[in-house]
Amino acid sequence: MGKYYITTTLPYVNAEPHIGFAMEIVRADVMARLHRALGDEVFFNTGTDEHGQKVYQKAKELGIDTQKYCDDNAAKFSILKDSLNLSYDNFIRTTDEHHIKAAQEFWKRCDANGDIYKKSYKIKYCVGCELEKTDSELVDGKCPIHPTMELEIREEENYFFRFSKYQEKLLGFYKANPDFVQPGFRQNEMKVFVENGLQDFSISRLKAKMPWGVPVPGDETQVMFVWFDALVNYVSCLGWPENTEKFNAFWPGVQICGKDNLRQQTAMWQAMLMSAGLPTSKQVIVEGFITSDGQKMSKSLGNVIDPLEYVAKYGTDAVRYFLTAELSVFEDSDMTRDRFEEAFQASLANGIGNLCARVAAMSEKENLKVPTEELTIRKEVVDLLNSYKFDEAMAVIWDLIKSADALINQRQVWKLEGEEKVTALTELVKIVRQVGTDLAPFMPATAEKIMAQYGVEEIKRSENLFQRLPANVN
Ligand SMILES: [Zn+2]
Repeated sequence: MGKYYITTTLPYVNAEPHIGFAMEIVRADVMARLHRALGDEVFFNTGTDEHGQKVYQKAKELGIDTQKYCDDNAAKFSILKDSLNLSYDNFIRTTDEHHIKAAQEFWKRCDANGDIYKKSYKIKYCVGCELEKTDSELVDGKCPIHPTMELEIREEENYFFRFSKYQEKLLGFYKANPDFVQPGFRQNEMKVFVENGLQDFSISRLKAKMPWGVPVPGDETQVMFVWFDALVNYVSCLGWPENTEKFNAFWPGVQICGKDNLRQQTAMWQAMLMSAGLPTSKQVIVEGFITSDGQKMSKSLGNVIDPLEYVAKYGTDAVRYFLTAELSVFEDSDMTRDRFEEAFQASLANGIGNLCARVAAMSEKENLKVPTEELTIRKEVVDLLNSYKFDEAMAVIWDLIKSADALINQRQVWKLEGEEKVTALTELVKIVRQVGTDLAPFMPATAEKIMAQYGVEEIKRSENLFQRLPANVN
């Protein structure tokens, strides 16, 4: 028994909850549920990032008070909790008073360590990323992630964080912790980035130009740069700095993020932690992106997948299945409605749904009795999940489902009689129980239904877990 802390990134409150974030939070939820099942005490954090220029501009455009705008939009993200059946323990909003105080305390500690200074500068800035862009990062003079947005030229006097001071420390840290970033090729990418030299980055804005941020301690003319305050949420959500008991129990934790967050999570934030005298994160999981028919999803292409629409049409666990079993964890992978429906028919309706219905029907007819037993998630599944191989862990579970289908067909169980039939059916019931147990972190409601039906001595028929989708009328 131990303590386990996992956190997602915090999406900007002005965004719509998108499928990439749904994937991130469902995978974090799988890890949280796994660790609870293993007996660990778990703290699972998510929330919304509510400061910065993007949020401020959007509220201004709409003519709404910025805090009111944040309040209304944060509610949209909390809808995900029910629709994706998420088990998070905490939903932090970076406009929470406690978080603001924690961000200021964090700043003071970095400052006391000599890592914050003021200077005038001129940069190119992408409001979409809320990040400075160097020329080498640009494609055709635009941010590659936001090719439709114009870069802003920013010229002002701001506070800077002495990132350059942490080059050797970060390299030493990566060397001592070769598994820190998952997958390993992302850690190599960061190692090369850090080896090439680090530039100090701006951590504040002139309040006169952009007032929507955490006030810089001791300087009324500046507010914190959104990334600086947002990153601190990973410790402020644990009650840091006052609640040392909770903080010490759960920190360092595991962070999951998309590949566009690599630098912020695995280098900037780690240097900030070192500067504030806090332990570095335990591990950062960096996911690939979801593409649609090989293309980046965008409003202009009209290929954006709305997770809530999929949940409404196919059900929560079908979406959780697809996001964990059918998409690569670390590489970009493709999601289309056709691919989704194909997987639904093959793996859910004809796969697990059909197996459970068939075995229950034969068992009921046979008046079969199989004594119940305590089961745990198989070690193979646990080990794969501990390396964040969600898709491979699901494949191991589906292998078991396929082995049951093969057993039914090879032995023609429906034709067997007497002792032979009882033996075969008993074996099948045990397999289904194991599937129900292994599936609990991934598809909790389905696992519960399976165990309600199969976790008793006498197995009865019940409704199908997944109804076949109507055939495509084309
Ligand atoms: Zn951008």
